[in-house]
Amino acid sequence: MKNLFPAAATLLAALSLAACDTKTATTGEARTAPSAEAAAALKTPEAAPTSGAAAVATDEANAAPAPDPGTIPAAKVNDAAAIYARPQVPILCYHQIRDWTGRDSRSAKDYIVPVAAFKAQVKMLADSGYHTILPDQLYAYLTTGAKLPSKPIMLTFDDTDLDQFTIARPELDKYGYKAVYFVMTVSLGRPHYMTKDMVKQLSDQGNLIGSHTWDHHNVKKYQGQDWVTQIDKPTKTLEEITGKKIKYFAYPFGLWNPQAFPELKQRGFAAAFSLAEKRDQQDPLFTIRRIIASGYWSPRTLHNSIVQSF
Ligand SMILES: [Zn+2]
Repeated sequence: MKNLFPAAATLLAALSLAACDTKTATTGEARTAPSAEAAAALKTPEAAPTSGAAAVATDEANAAPAPDPGTIPAAKVNDAAAIYARPQVPILCYHQIRDWTGRDSRSAKDYIVPVAAFKAQVKMLADSGYHTILPDQLYAYLTTGAKLPSKPIMLTFDDTDLDQFTIARPELDKYGYKAVYFVMTVSLGRPHYMTKDMVKQLSDQGNLIGSHTWDHHNVKKYQGQDWVTQIDKPTKTLEEITGKKIKYFAYPFGLWNPQAFPELKQRGFAAAFSLAEKRDQQDPLFTIRRIIASGYWSPRTLHNSIVQSF
């Protein structure tokens, strides 16, 4: 059975790519407070209860630890209409960060960002004054109107590709940027994918680990045991690796249906991320939009896309 996995993963990756290139979608990822600032914040207990929710404005919000969604009183959580009405935070979605080869199809290059292009994109974000945020910050903003850093953006990486750890992470580190990594657990430890230790390192370094199912099957087709295989078991695996609760989910191919929302909620997820299509007005937290940052895009094109898409 084990020998089947690499082939399956390759096929899934191919499926993922094929699905992604049917959309003009992108992903994004979020950032958290620098650990030194978080540590400083911990020394002032008075700041903790309100810090994530409402109090801190502008760039000081960088230093404010966001509250866990579970600690926000239900009475403080705004209704769906208010959440839907809030300006969206730009979220970028990346997959592979590597130079193109002759075997990469034209459409595949949308989700394969060459190393120099990635570096240029991230530099543009930093030069433009963007601050990365992480999902807890986004959740507090969407549900309670909590302040965010100036020019917030979330960077997300899907599918567990190894170059996210070896190439993207060190580049983001240069700017103090943090990101979200949506892991499909079938790939862990396989060639060209991240290991469990790498995922733990990302988590320990202040990035956020989210779930991207076991092997990337379409959520719209889940029945019965599929929820155990694709959601429950991967969540447990990721929680064992990180020692943290897994609260955020990214739909494979960005595909969702409203029937999935209660299934995800009862499993403890606070929010779920799709791609560029419209949000669900009744449940905007479970259809948070991202756009795929294409490998073809110059920094200027990326900037224009961020402005126009959100
Ligand atoms: Zn994916």
